[in-house]
Amino acid sequence: MDFFLLPLAVFAFTFGSLIGSFLNVVIYRLPAGISVVWPRSRCPHCGQVLSPLELVPIVSWVVQRGRCKNCQAPISARYPAVEALTAVLFTAAALLRPVLPDLLFIWAFIALLIALSFIDIDTKTLPNSLNFAGIGLGLLGALLLGYPQAFPQALEGGLMGAGLVALFAGYGGLLYNRFKDGPREGPFGLHLVHLAAMVGAWGGMLGTVGGVWLGGLGLVVGLLNASLNARTGRVLALHDALTLGLAALAPLLAWVMGLSPLESLRGMLVSAGGLALAGMLYWWLRNPSDKVEPEPETDNPTGYVTVMGYGDVVLAGFLGVWLGFTNLLVGVFVAVFAGAVVGLILRRLGGDPQIPFGPYLAIGGLIAFFYGTAIVQWYLGYIGLS
Ligand SMILES: [Zn+2]
Repeated sequence: MDFFLLPLAVFAFTFGSLIGSFLNVVIYRLPAGISVVWPRSRCPHCGQVLSPLELVPIVSWVVQRGRCKNCQAPISARYPAVEALTAVLFTAAALLRPVLPDLLFIWAFIALLIALSFIDIDTKTLPNSLNFAGIGLGLLGALLLGYPQAFPQALEGGLMGAGLVALFAGYGGLLYNRFKDGPREGPFGLHLVHLAAMVGAWGGMLGTVGGVWLGGLGLVVGLLNASLNARTGRVLALHDALTLGLAALAPLLAWVMGLSPLESLRGMLVSAGGLALAGMLYWWLRNPSDKVEPEPETDNPTGYVTVMGYGDVVLAGFLGVWLGFTNLLVGVFVAVFAGAVVGLILRRLGGDPQIPFGPYLAIGGLIAFFYGTAIVQWYLGYIGLS
């Protein structure tokens, strides 16, 4: 073992617990619409401002036996748990990749995923500010350092990751609602994602003409449709069953005709993901708040049931930028598997199995970030391909 690893591990643990303490503030304040840097932390029960000694991560909770010094109200064990989790993951990352500046990027990746997971558990939402911060940071690292991915892989991984989950939501919604058309939202709604998928799938099937990759055409057509919607104030949209049906037909046809079904799928995912992320960015910039408003009491007027939230779509885009598309697939697989196992255990224990998908995606993403390539190698060897 390297001589310098021990002090690095001690530093990583201490620094991680401090960041964990800050994440507790973010998890609580971001959905409440309160600034995360001001005012100072108080006891939620008696309002007493916490002294620096009471802010020492993990230790202060243990010394005070989980109670407020002033009013003796119990303090949730989740606070020291988040601090300890962050400290342990920061230390593991430091030992797995003791290289600068890579480690700083990994620490930011871990911190964002912890905050997103706990906010999703609390509020069933994933704040756009954290998701887009992850996308921005991953693309910046790719551009400046070629880390965590080379730039083309980061960009394509993000688009295809978002496209994968957006189309899972699209086809899931279509089947669940028995081929009913989805609600029309202008200027930037779900119909545009499905249109982009269709055009991208057919363009990708036809390949490249004159140096232009036709799979990206879906993105262009979708953006044109959005600007047309904004101009006219109307929502021009094709029926979901038509766009999603024709999108699925293209890779099948490509396979039958001896063209490339993979290029068709790539065009479909890149175009749908690009439109989904552009749409979420548009709505977020129009209302750049992460405050979670209470659900309106009125019942769903369209009666259309969505099978997956678009927060998960942006999170998949974030993970795709950091992992690249192949490792993202590993992460999604781990997430679905972990979700099934945990759901089964919770049901056995008689608990509430209603954990949203975000935390599972975060766990899968983190495992795939460190071990994705090894898992793919093992799998290829297992099925006899390498
Ligand atoms: Zn108190």
